[in-house]
Amino acid sequence: MDGGSDDDGGGDVSQVTVAELVQRARQGQPRAVARLISLVEGASPRLREVMAALAPLTGRAYVVGLTGPPGVGKSTTTSALVTAYRAAGRRVGVLAVDPSSPFSGGALLGDRVRMSEHAADPGVYIRSMATRGHLGGLAWAAPQAVRVLDAAGCDVILVETVGVGQSEVEIASQADTTVVLVAPGMGDGIQAAKAGILEVGDVFVVNKADREGADAAVRELHHMLGLGEARAPGDWRPSVVRSVATRGEGVEEVVEALEKHRAWLEERGELARRRVRRAAREVETIAVTALRERIADLGGDQRLAALAEQVATGGLDPYAAADRLVAAVAEAEGGGSGPSPTG
Ligand code: GDP
Repeated sequence: MDGGSDDDGGGDVSQVTVAELVQRARQGQPRAVARLISLVEGASPRLREVMAALAPLTGRAYVVGLTGPPGVGKSTTTSALVTAYRAAGRRVGVLAVDPSSPFSGGALLGDRVRMSEHAADPGVYIRSMATRGHLGGLAWAAPQAVRVLDAAGCDVILVETVGVGQSEVEIASQADTTVVLVAPGMGDGIQAAKAGILEVGDVFVVNKADREGADAAVRELHHMLGLGEARAPGDWRPSVVRSVATRGEGVEEVVEALEKHRAWLEERGELARRRVRRAAREVETIAVTALRERIADLGGDQRLAALAEQVATGGLDPYAAADRLVAAVAEAEGGGSGPSPTG
């Protein structure tokens, strides 16, 4: 069982119905929220029901992704942002995501998330997630966890990833606004360009501005982002903000930059477009994951191995082989009690 003991106070949440769990999460009960996220993480069979119940309650939260190299100050900045949003009376969800780690909730991320000051605040939900070896990985799980936090009434959801690998950048960019953090030195520019994070950043933060080289880092960013060049009218011009997250300096400016970007998204109809794009990715990921699972259920490994052997020896082309695999899944679906078409 995941999620640990649920036994005190609100009763054993592992026994309650999905409807009840969703109702409790909606009322803001942290235990119910935690339990729902555990169901996401564990790819529970109840998840289908959970998501159906959550769907009408979602779409309200403003989702901010934060990415940047390890040690740049993401956790510290996230914590400072939580403080700022809480001071403004907003409910905040934090999802710390580590796509490279098979561990969740435990020591690794627990240590990273410098959130102890918010631990007792009922207006803040903090959760870390790792892959747990699920087929779809975190690209699949993170958006579902965001849905839980959204339905639980979070006004703002901060999705923080540990580094700047491909999957980290992908997860952080599945947000309404994506924040990219860099620090003076560290050769961030080169690293950033490599991972393609310049393209996904809406707001750039040069953190550790108390260190030497902050001006140079800001200049380098301006140059790399082409901020001196003309843009089409109405295009977003990425903000570059300096901060010293440990002292809370510049955090207000980061919040302002976020609000400005959010206003721009809304004015341009871009918020809705981004959300549709995000939903498309989500649906696609779920569908592909389901297909993989079904291939596995079919005894797919043997079937796949047999097809692969033919492909390897030139007896069959890979497209025809893939068609056969997909057809086998469709056949199995059609023969059994597949989903009935609904209007
Ligand atoms: P993350 O790995 O990107 O999440 O980075 P952390 O938030 O864990 O910060 C890494 C280290 O840098 C910690 O020791 C922080 O206290 C420190 N740090 C964070 N922000 C600043 C800053 O603005 N200035 C300085 N000097 N140190 C900072």
